[in-house]
Amino acid sequence: MLPEQQTHKCRDKNCTKRFFFLAAKNLHEELAHGLAPTASLEEPKENIRDDLYKYSCSRLYVGLLLLNANDPVKEGDGDRLIRFYNIYTFIFRMNGNDKYAYICLRLKARELALMSPRDFHRLKWNRFVNNHGGRAQNISLDLRLEHINKVTKALIKSQGMQNLTDDVSKTFQKPLEAWKS
Ligand SMILES: [Zn+2]
Repeated sequence: MLPEQQTHKCRDKNCTKRFFFLAAKNLHEELAHGLAPTASLEEPKENIRDDLYKYSCSRLYVGLLLLNANDPVKEGDGDRLIRFYNIYTFIFRMNGNDKYAYICLRLKARELALMSPRDFHRLKWNRFVNNHGGRAQNISLDLRLEHINKVTKALIKSQGMQNLTDDVSKTFQKPLEAWKS
């Protein structure tokens, strides 16, 4: 027998059933007695203005979308990343992040007109690298370039050079080519 405080009693007066799970109780009440569930996840009616509800929904949508953008990078899923860029083009534009919106738009233009299907296929799938092996361990090529730049800068500083120009850093990047591949 379950302890009484941990169970949910059926709301019907003539029924003595008790349930451990609230969902099971709700289902029993609905099927056996035709009672409506006590708590529902229905949206508020249209004439009621609920900014907190709307804010929470937007935050959840955007947050989940952003999580959805990190995952394809880890998995190396080019198709899913392109879908993310398509959706976020509008969100970037709405928030005034015009440079990001422009990059997304340029990607779309490349897909539709500027690149051959073969080249776009390469652009889509050649964006990730897996340094250590294993599933879902990819990082973006951009991030890898940042890692390489960090090593390059440390190398240059170790030589006592303070003024970095692109030409100087390129000279130092040459020995790193072997490490990159
Ligand atoms: Zn009952």
